Amino acid sequence: MTMSERVNLLGLPRAELEAFCAALGSKAFRARQLMNWLYKRGGNRFEDMSDLARDFRALLAERAELTLPQVVSEQCAADGTRKWLLRADQAQAFEMVYIPESDRGTLCISSQVGCALDCAFCATAQQGFNRNLSTAEIVGQVWLANRELGFQPGGARAITNVVLMGMGEPLANFRNVVAALRIFLDDLGFDLSRRRVTLSTSGLVPQIYRLAQEINVALAVSLHAPDDELRSQLVPINRLHPIAELLEACWHYIDEQNGRSVTFEYVMLEGVNDSPAQARAVARLLAGHPAKVNLIPFNPYTGTRFRRSSEAAIGQFRDLLLRGGVMATVRRTRGEDIDAACGQLVGRVTDRTVVRLGSRVEAARTRAAGVNA
Ligand code: SAH
Repeated sequence: MTMSERVNLLGLPRAELEAFCAALGSKAFRARQLMNWLYKRGGNRFEDMSDLARDFRALLAERAELTLPQVVSEQCAADGTRKWLLRADQAQAFEMVYIPESDRGTLCISSQVGCALDCAFCATAQQGFNRNLSTAEIVGQVWLANRELGFQPGGARAITNVVLMGMGEPLANFRNVVAALRIFLDDLGFDLSRRRVTLSTSGLVPQIYRLAQEINVALAVSLHAPDDELRSQLVPINRLHPIAELLEACWHYIDEQNGRSVTFEYVMLEGVNDSPAQARAVARLLAGHPAKVNLIPFNPYTGTRFRRSSEAAIGQFRDLLLRGGVMATVRRTRGEDIDAACGQLVGRVTDRTVVRLGSRVEAARTRAAGVNA
């Protein structure tokens, strides 16, 4: 049997892992043991999994693998935000970002390399679409971040929240994303509460209905404009699925999944979507529905024609939403100095690889020399 025929166990939700163990002629509880090693103890080598029978381990070594994305580089921002670049293939990479707060630790993960949705204000859109991430690459981000953050079995958890707000449109990679979500929520997996796993979508309406049948996580939707004319310019998928249709799908999701509310993301672009009249229009759309709004100050990147709204405009917009009967908050910008903020993830390795791989080699040398850098 060749390497490529081995099954990567990292991407398998519980039911599939059980089926895999059964196909090897093994008992279903082996799947539980494997998940325990993988997700509770951070194991990634079969030979370390000491409570698995020796012949089962031998069989696993032959038929299965535990393959994680490779870390290309890491950056740490002044505010403690950390960003990792992970390798997808020779030329492409994707990014994940860890955002520590006093009461939680949020990992922002990617679902695709690049993105096909082409939102006007997003840096990821500039690079176009490369490919979907596999379930193992999606789950692997949380696994790796746990390791990088010094997770100890039984110790306090560094990652309490996972948000699919990195590179890519998660609902365009539906199957792999849903399988990964199952592992995040599974008590034998990362055991995250369904309210602490958030999927953010630009508004793929049919997939929101499908998601409602599949899994219960928190839903965030990129609204960004109160009317179809403007939203179609900013978020082109709106031409296919206009606002009224999108909102219907959102309310359906909440009904179906007993959710509390949908979070509507609204990027604040100066002179584009930040006027008082637009705030009132957003309030009219959402008031009386299970909705809250998260205003995101625009994060600029090289080549963009947009500017961030002033703090005063953002504050006024929030107040008008509140007055209009809609819960609203302003997202604090994090990790800006390392381009880790919303819409700044690009993940290109070409032209950066050499430099970064170089500094990694140096870091490894320093560690080898016994310096705790
Ligand atoms: N593809 C998903 C996840 C994207 S990232 C989606 O579209 O929802 C999470 C949020 O950041 C989205 O609401 C996205 O529209 C927003 N965003 C994109 N670029 C941004 C930028 N430059 N500044 C601020 N927010 C941005």
